[in-house]
Amino acid sequence: MSETRRLYFDDACLLEFDAEVVERREHESHPAVVLDRTAFYPESGGQPWDRGTLGGVPVLQVLDLEGAILHVLDGPAPEGRVHGAVDRAVRFDHMQQHTGQHVLSQAFWELLKGETRSFHMGPDLSTLEIGLPKISDADCDRVEDRANAVVWEDRQVKTYFVPEERIGEVPLRRPPKKQGLLRVVEVDGFDYSACGGTHVRRTGEIGLIRLGGVEKIRGNLRFEFLCGGRALCDYRAKDRTVRRLAASFSCSAADAGGQVERISAEGKALKKRARRLEERLAAFEAAEIVRAAPGRVIAGVLEDKTPEEARFLALNIVRRGDFAVAYGASGESQGHVILARAESLKADLRQAVPAVAAVVPVKGGGGPSLVELVAADKSRLGEAVEAAARWLAEHP
Ligand SMILES: [Zn+2]
Repeated sequence: MSETRRLYFDDACLLEFDAEVVERREHESHPAVVLDRTAFYPESGGQPWDRGTLGGVPVLQVLDLEGAILHVLDGPAPEGRVHGAVDRAVRFDHMQQHTGQHVLSQAFWELLKGETRSFHMGPDLSTLEIGLPKISDADCDRVEDRANAVVWEDRQVKTYFVPEERIGEVPLRRPPKKQGLLRVVEVDGFDYSACGGTHVRRTGEIGLIRLGGVEKIRGNLRFEFLCGGRALCDYRAKDRTVRRLAASFSCSAADAGGQVERISAEGKALKKRARRLEERLAAFEAAEIVRAAPGRVIAGVLEDKTPEEARFLALNIVRRGDFAVAYGASGESQGHVILARAESLKADLRQAVPAVAAVVPVKGGGGPSLVELVAADKSRLGEAVEAAARWLAEHP
């Protein structure tokens, strides 16, 4: 295939262009074309491909096949002369993230001697892997401050080609991966990288650079980061969340985090207390039920109890005498049948399962003295409990 002329090398702001279709083919059952020249950036170097249209047909994917750039299309491939239009918003977003990455990488290197190991630009977040074993919050802030200072200085971002044999004269941050004529992207006097991506013209266009979460990976640190429009959207969303929290707690935004922690700790303590109270209540309830029990078998559907509460009550009852219990209780979407008997009784409750399953399909099981069955169909819980109670009456 013939080499495609990359218009974005000379001008990353050129979005509309005319070109000649030089080859038509298929890619994963989609039509695809190679042009003599293109402004579309193909996926490469951690940067995703451009979006847009060719001859009015949406471009699904752009691939670099050893110099020839393949445009995969969501419709019939055009022939002859074709007009291309690159999506401006997506391209500019990529330019902001990518140039921001160069600035961040150099800030990590300059301040901490942290080398960039890899870069990935995702649809929402980008990540940068830096060869550092750990980092303090203070150092994160220094790197972020340095990167943003370079943005505010509004330095020019220049691109030029240097032959491989003269690349030693350029103070590249990383040795080049390619050979031959090398494309250098220089953030004026600050960073020099061999790179084929699309970049903004001046660092001011990057906007805010924000470091996000960091995690350890392969002995390095992987940072999330956001630049420009993405940083603005992130700040907007987080600011709204914090203000909503502050309003619901009637506190200042600065105090919202502390309030959440306090309320969460309070919630846990209350849950513990509630469990203790439930246990005491179950003991009283069990005593009352046993007093009024008509005989050995106690059965019913407990409308106001969760399956856990019903199981707890059943176990409390069978500890008080020679009782066998069949309780029904509703879970979130399923019906539960709980069978329990006193250790002094002989019946193996697992053998009661077919009697319940004859009424409604159930899953679950247990041991000889405790069985819990779950039915997807809650509507027949009453009948299922009745069947279980009959079985208990027949099997002392
Ligand atoms: Zn780059």
